[in-house]
Amino acid sequence: MDRLYGNQRYYALHRYYKNTFGRKIHKAVIDGGFTCPNKDGTLSHQGCLFCLKGSGYFTGRGTITEQLAAEKKRIFAKEPNAGIIAYFQANTNTYAPVSVLKSRFEEALADKDVVGISIGTRADCLPDETIKYLCELSERNWLTVEIGLQTVHEDTADRMNLCCSRTLIKEQVVKLKKYGIRVCLHIINGLPYETHEQMIETVREAASWKPDAVKIQLLHVIEGTPLAEMYKDKPFPILEEDEYVRLVVQQLEYLPPFTVCERLTGDGDGSKLIAPLWSIRKMHILNKIAQLQKLRDTFQGKKYIP
Ligand code: SF4
Repeated sequence: MDRLYGNQRYYALHRYYKNTFGRKIHKAVIDGGFTCPNKDGTLSHQGCLFCLKGSGYFTGRGTITEQLAAEKKRIFAKEPNAGIIAYFQANTNTYAPVSVLKSRFEEALADKDVVGISIGTRADCLPDETIKYLCELSERNWLTVEIGLQTVHEDTADRMNLCCSRTLIKEQVVKLKKYGIRVCLHIINGLPYETHEQMIETVREAASWKPDAVKIQLLHVIEGTPLAEMYKDKPFPILEEDEYVRLVVQQLEYLPPFTVCERLTGDGDGSKLIAPLWSIRKMHILNKIAQLQKLRDTFQGKKYIP
């Protein structure tokens, strides 16, 4: 097993933080005031069907400095010496001219406790001048660009109204990595009507792009989203807990050993969750993943082919 993993069988985020920063790191969730082309009418008004408020569930209000202050208060109450990563989570955080991006990201980086930034975005909102700026930013700060892949299957992407070709996502990931920018890919398990094999295929394909990190999420059907209406109208199959655990254990085998697993299950607003209700017990699911890995004597990267 890889020495990076410590006593786990995958490269967990806390291990990466320890290896990289030598101390505890927490993410401060920020709403940078951006919108999204998949919701403002440029591509569609509906958005990705699972999207609730730009997926910025946990973001606060106010200027970036005010939001950071509130997040630091919350984090330091638990971990007084933590380093802070400003996580621009809500909506599409490169959907603006470079001058606007600069002012918003630099405002976060001016905070003495901020050790880096993480920027959630879409592959179709990364024109060359933006990538050039991100490249410059990553040379002087810890930076991760988080890209929503969700699935490599175009039919699922169409069904979910993702409005971005899988080919473009691959091209942009390759480009970002060529410029030395750290990339985290978001993947969703349990998208309507996808088979187990298709979900494995998504991870195998994504693994071949050598992402620095992944967030593997379980699809949550959340009240207030178009997906919830679709589900109420015609319920689609929802992954069972044991099925999900088996799936993730298998997916981990195909990931590169160096890819950090920032998330292995869902992380949404539990009060609005319609399905699957078993997913609320996050620690229980993570424990089951660890137990099954041990039982099968398997680990992240076991089947990875460089
Ligand atoms: S790209 Fe992100 S913010 Fe935009 S609709 Fe999809 S999930 Fe929501």
